Amino acid sequence: MSHPEAKQKILIVDDEPINIQVLNGILKSDFEITFASNGIKACELAETTRPDLILLDVMMPEMDGWEVCKRLKNNPETHDIPIIFVTAMTQPQNEVKSLELGAVDFVTKPFHHAVVKARVHTHMELKRQRDYLQNISSMDGLTGIANRRRFDEQLEKEWRRAARSQTKLSLLLMDIDQFKLYNDYYGHPEGDDCLKKVARSLADSLERPGDLVARYGGEEFVFILPDTGRDGVIFLAESLRKNIENLGIAHKKSTVSEVVTISLGGVTGVPNIKSSYQTYIKIADECLYEAKENGRNRSVVRSI
Ligand code: GH3
Ligand code: MG
Ligand code: MG
Repeated sequence: MSHPEAKQKILIVDDEPINIQVLNGILKSDFEITFASNGIKACELAETTRPDLILLDVMMPEMDGWEVCKRLKNNPETHDIPIIFVTAMTQPQNEVKSLELGAVDFVTKPFHHAVVKARVHTHMELKRQRDYLQNISSMDGLTGIANRRRFDEQLEKEWRRAARSQTKLSLLLMDIDQFKLYNDYYGHPEGDDCLKKVARSLADSLERPGDLVARYGGEEFVFILPDTGRDGVIFLAESLRKNIENLGIAHKKSTVSEVVTISLGGVTGVPNIKSSYQTYIKIADECLYEAKENGRNRSVVRSI
């Protein structure tokens, strides 16, 4: 099957340069290849380059392929990368061990070109399908940005990371002002269209790669902002608010403005590993409520 997208990536791990050369020759026309000649380097590269597949030699000095496999499977960052063992050992117990360690397959040396190619292609196709499913299951259908599920996963991760490293984390909840009146007056399809425009503007307003915006539900959106303190979150909240105002989407029934506006509630601080991120959401929600009470089209941020 041919795909117009970017080439998938393979990491080849082998202590013998000749094996790397042969595998590279078989696979380089279809995939982007990187190499490692020992286990330590392999673990590093797996984490930094995120290959779609790893071809892993079993017999290597210092750290053998089985040990590398164990480490990759124990690391949440590399846990999901499929591994194919490359081995000269053909006894069934070795094949069983490879599969029990979590490898998806194995190929034997000396290489049979067509067999290697076919097996790699099969696993790459499976990987592509898995990536696709993962992608759509974490995406909001209407707006195309991250959905609630993705937000929950990400917040849990960022919360733990910030608590561990004792760094700042901010959260921002955002709600469109008087959107029920918008829907009632313009109709639901126009309402959907407005949500899409708002979501696009919010996503475009983020500049740091670690930031995430997700649709929290209905006309509410939420931001996770790692390494962001009070000044940063206030600045961002205000620029989001102005950017939405500047879209100039007419809202005749609004009592706040002529155009669609938003209110925001934020919380910022250094997370405590003993407390739950649910408290963060609760505080942001209280601030959002306060912004609504104070007249809407504004933001309220609390530090903890
Ligand atoms: P407030 O300023 O206090 O936030 O008032 P509001 O009217 O925005 O808040 P309320 O929660 O009463 O109403 C939210 C409305 O958002 C209800 C519904 O009509 C609309 N809404 C929620 N989800 C969708 C959606 O997916 N599409 C459309 N078109 N409208 C939605
Ligand atoms: Mg709401
Ligand atoms: Mg609202």
